[in-house]
Amino acid sequence: MGGMPGATDQTLRPFLWRAQKMFPDREVVSRTHEGRERYTYSEYGARVAQLANALAGAGIEDGDRVGTFCWNHHRHFEAYFAVPSMGAQLHTINPLLPDHHIQYIVENAADRLLFVDPSLVEKLAGAYDEDAFESVEQFVVMGSEVPDTPLENVTDYESFVGGEETDYDWPNLPEEQPAGMCYTSGTTGKPKGVEYTQQMLWSHTMASLPEAGLDLRSSDVVMPVVPMFHVNAWGFPFSTTAAGAKHVYPGPSPTPEDLATLIEEEGVTITAGVPTVWLGLLEYLAENDADMSSLERIVIGGSAAPKSVIRRFDEEYDVTVTHAWGMTEMAPLGTVANLKPGMESLPKEEQYEKQAKQGLLVPGLEMRVVDDDGEEVPWNGEDFGELWVRGPWVTTEYFERPEANEEDFEVPAGGASGQSADEVSGVWLKTGDVVTVDPEGYVKIVDRAKDVIKSGGEWISSVELENALMANDNVAEATVVGVPHERWQERPVAFVVPTRGTDEDSLKAELIEMVEDEFPKWWAPDEVVFIEEVPKTATGKFDKKVLREQYDDQSLV
Ligand code: ADP
Repeated sequence: MGGMPGATDQTLRPFLWRAQKMFPDREVVSRTHEGRERYTYSEYGARVAQLANALAGAGIEDGDRVGTFCWNHHRHFEAYFAVPSMGAQLHTINPLLPDHHIQYIVENAADRLLFVDPSLVEKLAGAYDEDAFESVEQFVVMGSEVPDTPLENVTDYESFVGGEETDYDWPNLPEEQPAGMCYTSGTTGKPKGVEYTQQMLWSHTMASLPEAGLDLRSSDVVMPVVPMFHVNAWGFPFSTTAAGAKHVYPGPSPTPEDLATLIEEEGVTITAGVPTVWLGLLEYLAENDADMSSLERIVIGGSAAPKSVIRRFDEEYDVTVTHAWGMTEMAPLGTVANLKPGMESLPKEEQYEKQAKQGLLVPGLEMRVVDDDGEEVPWNGEDFGELWVRGPWVTTEYFERPEANEEDFEVPAGGASGQSADEVSGVWLKTGDVVTVDPEGYVKIVDRAKDVIKSGGEWISSVELENALMANDNVAEATVVGVPHERWQERPVAFVVPTRGTDEDSLKAELIEMVEDEFPKWWAPDEVVFIEEVPKTATGKFDKKVLREQYDDQSLV
């Protein structure tokens, strides 16, 4: 345990306690399949205690993992405090992943109980596999009834918590206790588990609150559109509670109209999500009347915020885009593109230019930008290198993946990767993002060393698509590259070398059909480009950079 003897550790519980006692009347609002629900922090706290009692009654103990397969709503938010504060671990699962990833993740994490949204029961049942789900003893559907499903041992949430005591004897947890877990897409295809300790979530919350972080106040009304299965909705459920602010959860698959309505009717001041969401909202607002006057800021991250989006929100709606960068491995907040004093007087276009960068490192973290020889590059806005970060909320290892640790972490001399933080300190996370830093300290991502494609905030594994394509007898070589896309930021394009004499049109149809069968539909390449040879690097690897550039120049299409 850290700190002075007798002191409490850095854990989430005091955030809940404070909100409940000091902001008892602030609201939690949630759009669900049942309509819009609202209650106060005071009632929230009582329901969190009921949930903890129900989980304890179901046999969940200290150190157990509890999975969620859910969108953003109040019940999911209840699990956010109940599960970690009772000493268990909240494992948020991304329901948009292919079935075989879901199976791998549930098996790897050995979840004992799974919360699942009514609209996702079918998807989960489709991914269900007896061996992979062996650890799962019970499913709890996030509503007040159980839909028809082949899943066994299914209860509905309201019956599960109903009748439980509204107090819980919360334990004094050590800060190294695992509190959360989230999987990130690995360059090698298999997702990698990242565990968040109580201390990581505590320090991430404290870093999010001030102006140098995300600047949250008790007067704010915060609507995280970023899914709660994406790195804890970027920590907003915790930081909003710590601030004593009002929560608004937009529920399952919100449309731009749903978002505009919630902003207008709930007086949302801050919202957050990937660029695709905001392009959709801008499109909607251009055609429809909606009152956006309460909205002050949109936190955009996950992919680069386009300058045009930053400009339009400022010019047309007087809304500031707070561009942020982060990673699952960092819980996720890393940089925020706040303007420095004096920059407000720069011409608007220059301000947008700064805001379109990924920004300044938040206090508490350290970074290095290193070239291929491991040398730090100068902060001149031109020289680039890989961004390394370290700090209290940055993970130092993957869950049970020693080979991935070797690749993605730099351990200071004397330590070994995989050793716990007690044994070695100062481990750097190699982000795989290639950046420049300008003399003012603003980080700008110029490329990604990793091959994964990010479409609308969700990963597509190029490696898995390539393997699937190359399994076809009429394909000699294939590679899949992410190309820039206005709406989705990136989309996959397949470059395929067909075997001699193959009919290209029928092969193309066959390949797309095969991908759609094996993976979620949105993984299918937007285009299949036939080429004579895949360009190779000096070491014989597929040179995707060359293909990306050629594709950009339109010389291949
Ligand atoms: P998240 O859920 O926050 O998207 P992931 O771990 O899935 O986290 O993805 C992290 C990666 O996403 C980063 O390493 C980077 O490549 C990309 N990314 C995140 N934020 C930004 C941003 N603001 N601009 C450009 N790329 C970003």
